[in-house]
Amino acid sequence: MTEARTFLIAGAGLAGARAAETLREEGFAGKVLIAGEEAERPYIRPPLSKEYLAGTAEREAGFVHPERWYAEHDVELLLGTSVTRVDLGDHTAALTGGGRVRYDALLLATGARSRRLTGLGSGASLTGVHYLRTRQESDALRAALADGGRRVVIVGSGWIGLEVAAAARTYGNAVTVLGQETVPLSAALGDEIGGIFAALHREHGVNLRTSTSVREIRGILGAVTGVVLRDGEVVPADVVVVAIGAVPNDELACVAGLTVDNGVVVDEHLRTGHPDVYAAGDVASAFHPALGRQLRVEHWANALNTGPLAARAMLGQPVVDDLVPYFYTDQYDLGMEYTGYFSLARDARVVYRGDRDAREFIAFWVAEGRVVAGMNVNVWDVSPDIERLVRSAAPVDEARLADASIPLTELVPADAVAAEGVA
Ligand SMILES: Cc1cc2nc3c(=O)[nH]c(=O)nc-3n(C[C@H](O)[C@H](O)[C@H](O)COP(=O)(O)OP(=O)(O)OC[C@H]3O[C@@H](n4cnc5c(N)ncnc54)[C@H](O)[C@@H]3O)c2cc1C
Repeated sequence: MTEARTFLIAGAGLAGARAAETLREEGFAGKVLIAGEEAERPYIRPPLSKEYLAGTAEREAGFVHPERWYAEHDVELLLGTSVTRVDLGDHTAALTGGGRVRYDALLLATGARSRRLTGLGSGASLTGVHYLRTRQESDALRAALADGGRRVVIVGSGWIGLEVAAAARTYGNAVTVLGQETVPLSAALGDEIGGIFAALHREHGVNLRTSTSVREIRGILGAVTGVVLRDGEVVPADVVVVAIGAVPNDELACVAGLTVDNGVVVDEHLRTGHPDVYAAGDVASAFHPALGRQLRVEHWANALNTGPLAARAMLGQPVVDDLVPYFYTDQYDLGMEYTGYFSLARDARVVYRGDRDAREFIAFWVAEGRVVAGMNVNVWDVSPDIERLVRSAAPVDEARLADASIPLTELVPADAVAAEGVA
């Protein structure tokens, strides 16, 4: 029998492209259509604030698939095309340009966008003010930074702000980072480890300012000249980068009548309240079985893995999204991976293994006697073991955890490894 179903994917990012890939791998022979607002085929974003911004990575390396892959796998890619409206009742989606698609199953993979600085009047539209979400924006920022010698002010001391600071310093710019927190990344990592990142940036010549708040972005003749702080101080700038987080692109779902609450609300099978509509990647707030609540994850690995999970769910397979969150960053010569539940780590004790001063260590967050998260800094090939420790939820001996002479594999309970073999 010929497969007559159409699966529509809204959003041509990592989650959408990986979902299409899985549909074909799983033998789906119907029509697969991806509609993407951007003009480029799906690419990954982490390099946009790291090696691509720093000019050390090729454009081609960032694409999820080679161009020919789409035709070879009969995946129809409509670029520069947004899904503007979804009608759940008659299973149709409206596209920019007036097109309309009838779908049998729909995946919302619309990702997130940069949070805007609001209340600044015309300041945000001045030449020299940058946001960073798309490749086009990374190209524009790179052009602004690449000659060096400019006064760069970064609003926001989160991951992207700090990564941009590192790239900007590499080009020889004078960089000021304006953070709201007393210690950068303290909300994510706590003061102690946030302090390691603060020291790293200061050592590399960044003027890292904490507990600041921006009142205005100022310019002359349409070009930015500085950032005005809440107390009236003006920080002069030739380039301003606003990196204050991201917000999910969930309006499409909201207008369609789906439940939206900081993202598209889906169950552990990535299904919305409507049986034929799914969500994956940054836009999805999925019920997490281990946490017993909704969780929206804005990280590369989540898009990489929930796209395929959603595709399998669309095919009727009994999948469950029980992924342990994972992300990474690279800043100067510091590379780190974080694996675990950030929300459980907030009040946890931090146990260190390795050399903090040399920035070669693993930090474990231990709550109620179990590891809830781990972060390896310039120590490699350990994140699978950290994930096993977190997933097992087994009691840990903190002294053994801190003892680098004991391989991590010995701390992972045998039944956790055995259970993995069965899965
Ligand atoms: C600069 C930067 C650096 C990052 N670095 C890291 C990192 O080091 N580590 C890490 O783990 N994560 C990192 N991330 C996060 C990671 O890139 C995201 O988690 C990932 O891109 C999410 O993929 P996605 O497919 O869900 O969404 P997106 O990548 O946002 O893709 C969604 C796509 O859908 C399109 N779209 C939106 N609405 C519509 C519509 N209505 N119709 C059609 N198309 C639509 C969007 O334009 C976009 O192209 C970084 C993100 C950025 C921006």
